[in-house]
Amino acid sequence: MARPRIDLHTHSTASDGTDSPSELVTAAAAAGVQVLAITDHDTTAGWAEAAAALPRGLQLLRGAEFSCISPTGRGDRDVSVHLLGYQFDPDHEAIVAEQTRLRTERRQRLRRITEKMAADGYPVDADIILELIPHGASAGRPHLARALVGAGVVASVDEAFGKLLYNGSPYYVPKADTPVRTAIAMVRAAGGVPVFAHPLARRRGRVVEPSVIVELAAAGLGGVEIDHPDHSAEDRDLLRGLATDLGLVRTGSSDYHGTNKTTPLAAETTAGPALDALLAQATGVPLLTGTG
Ligand code: AMP
Ligand code: FE
Ligand code: FE
Ligand code: ZN
Repeated sequence: MARPRIDLHTHSTASDGTDSPSELVTAAAAAGVQVLAITDHDTTAGWAEAAAALPRGLQLLRGAEFSCISPTGRGDRDVSVHLLGYQFDPDHEAIVAEQTRLRTERRQRLRRITEKMAADGYPVDADIILELIPHGASAGRPHLARALVGAGVVASVDEAFGKLLYNGSPYYVPKADTPVRTAIAMVRAAGGVPVFAHPLARRRGRVVEPSVIVELAAAGLGGVEIDHPDHSAEDRDLLRGLATDLGLVRTGSSDYHGTNKTTPLAAETTAGPALDALLAQATGVPLLTGTG
């Protein structure tokens, strides 16, 4: 049998993707994807629409990408990391509270970044940008990046990040992310499976040492994203060895963001047995299969 097309990390307009949840599942089916996960940043707001629009035969995992901080393992200051959570109960109190807090913080932060840029003469308006982000959706720098593209300041979202919005830029404003151990415990308590997203995406800045992944595995981490567009071949090899030694599920995914990034759906995929191992740990919500 041909390798199944399983893409476990995608974004919709519930965060910083450009496809609505229904467009996302439709595009996935059209791309030949057989199993898709919707994993918007810090929200489950896209789940219902994606589930309702699920094309016949397409299987949907419901998930989210949690904004976290982690020690680096080197004793320097904590680093921003992302944790994917799959199939957790979306009504779990701690998750609802933390995601709500983070979304509020994200809006305030995007306002501050935008206002700093406006004060320097950039033609961007925080009210206009924030009004376009639906209630329950997560605001992110890509929303500002698109406004900058629209105003002709830069030619692409990628250029906006490279020139103006990168971590540590004069306009950068941090947000108070969740300690990654707390997030792992929350996802597990809600019956979900926590997977470390793109742990060695070095182009975004500092990354954790392998020793941190060893510690997080002992703290309940269920898997590691290995095949990801931001991972080098060497880092994939390193992670594959580590995950095998630790008994972690090894995933691969596109991290699709619609036209906010250039990576297409299923550019990277997860193997069938890895998906089975992941689902075997999940009790929060059932896997959905489209009947539409
Ligand atoms: P934020 O969530 O506001 O911290 O913004 C981070 C998001 O911006 C990430 O989730 C990516 O989707 C996106 N991003 C980061 N770097 C780039 C880049 N160079 N080009 C396009 N999108 C990016
Ligand atoms: Fe994103
Ligand atoms: Fe991420
Ligand atoms: Zn992502």
